[in-house]
Amino acid sequence: MTKIRVTKRFHFEMAHALHGYDGLCRNIHGHSYNLEITIYGNVFRSPGDPKDGMVMDFHELKMLVKTHVTEKLDHALMVNRLIDHRHLEALQLTTSRILVVDFQPTTENILQYIADMLKPLLPEGVTLYSIRLYETITSFAEWVASDNP
Ligand SMILES: [Zn+2]
Repeated sequence: MTKIRVTKRFHFEMAHALHGYDGLCRNIHGHSYNLEITIYGNVFRSPGDPKDGMVMDFHELKMLVKTHVTEKLDHALMVNRLIDHRHLEALQLTTSRILVVDFQPTTENILQYIADMLKPLLPEGVTLYSIRLYETITSFAEWVASDNP
């Protein structure tokens, strides 16, 4: 048995605002997020099978993350549910893609949100190993499964 980690990169554009933050990020602004999803598992051995030699088909991983994560977040505005409701109503007039979440939409918290979404969706024998989320070219945060048992 060979255990391998497999990573796929994704990209999405999302706006957010940090409720109550003491800096510029309390204002609505956007990021070009880069996302790296790393899974691990045993390399499947079955000569002649289309998935022979793979942990998980890159295409399958791509479709899973696209459907459940990036298509939901792309061109959305993520706001903390603590936002003033009049402010939220005004924003809803300008966009249909507002995600009101139970957390402050920091890179750290978005990582946890993505991990929680993906973990139950992976096929049997495949485990989420880590997720990196780049908010800018120079800033990223990382969720690692072994840190969060
Ligand atoms: Zn930001």
